[in-house]
Amino acid sequence: MLDGWVAARLGLPAPLTRRALERRQLERICDTLAHAAAHSAFYRARLPADRVSSWEEFAALPFTWPEDIRTQGARMVCVGGGEIERVFTVLETSGSSGRPKRICFTAGELEDTVDYFHHGMLEFAGVGDTAAILFPGRSPHSLNALLSEALRRMGAVPVVLGLPGPEDGPAVLERIVSLGARRLIGPPFAVAALAEQSRALGLDGPVGRTVDSVLLAGSFVSETHCRTISEIWGCRIDEEYGMTETGLAGAVGCTLGGGYHPWSSDLYYEVVDPETGAVLPDGQEGELTVTTLGRRGMPLIRYRTGDISRILPGPCPCGSVLPHMARVGDRHCEKKYQRVSPDDITGF
Ligand SMILES: [Zn+2]
Repeated sequence: MLDGWVAARLGLPAPLTRRALERRQLERICDTLAHAAAHSAFYRARLPADRVSSWEEFAALPFTWPEDIRTQGARMVCVGGGEIERVFTVLETSGSSGRPKRICFTAGELEDTVDYFHHGMLEFAGVGDTAAILFPGRSPHSLNALLSEALRRMGAVPVVLGLPGPEDGPAVLERIVSLGARRLIGPPFAVAALAEQSRALGLDGPVGRTVDSVLLAGSFVSETHCRTISEIWGCRIDEEYGMTETGLAGAVGCTLGGGYHPWSSDLYYEVVDPETGAVLPDGQEGELTVTTLGRRGMPLIRYRTGDISRILPGPCPCGSVLPHMARVGDRHCEKKYQRVSPDDITGF
């Protein structure tokens, strides 16, 4: 459970309560709004001069759209260029302007992501576990680099194998076995394809005996992916929801309750009606909208993710008081397989 770590990050006493969490989240939202209005030309023109004092007032603020990032992303940045450590470029074919989204992070924000991975993966890997990572990109602060650093902090041994190409399956599978990789982290489509290849090659037995658990991240996870992987390798499956915009991280899969628990110290999710924009009650499916809490470099306020989910009502069986989100789907039914693409990194 992330609860203890979230409470500590927010300076709240343990055990965390939902009431204390929401109160502190609203305080952090107010700080973010003030920071954004003071330092970003984009937000200054959109945000009210008065301090937001309730969730109702927050829900009346304008949305930030992917198109805003594409066309006005540089005006959302709230710090000097020297403070930006990394710019991630998200290439999508569906953008109406055809421009990529560029998302900026300070060094401290990249460290926040590592810290989140570290604590979010505590149940996934332990001391001495070899973890093979299957994302593209080997540059500093790539998703591979951030995951590797988090695994090292847990005492695990990360090995970046990269995203396998169509011809790479046999070599990658043999490498997983020769490394004795008990943990595997990668995009759902790539790991499922690898599992199917292992069966076709007669390597499913050796790989299944090597790999105990798989963490699927970086794009949407489907029931089919999970079933394929667990049936072929007989391993445990964990999930992670995130996107580049939210720092490559976002929410940790819950093994007891299904779905995800959000990174609630740093992100606030709303579920809104995709057409009217009205905030929907728990249980009702709509579009996930996210606000970053405390991000100084390039805050996002009520950002429309295009992803579909709902907040599951009632307490989660795991005992967490964090919101409990259902498995996320794509509003546009597109296969954004490469949505988290740390290879595509450029500067302004
Ligand atoms: Zn749970």
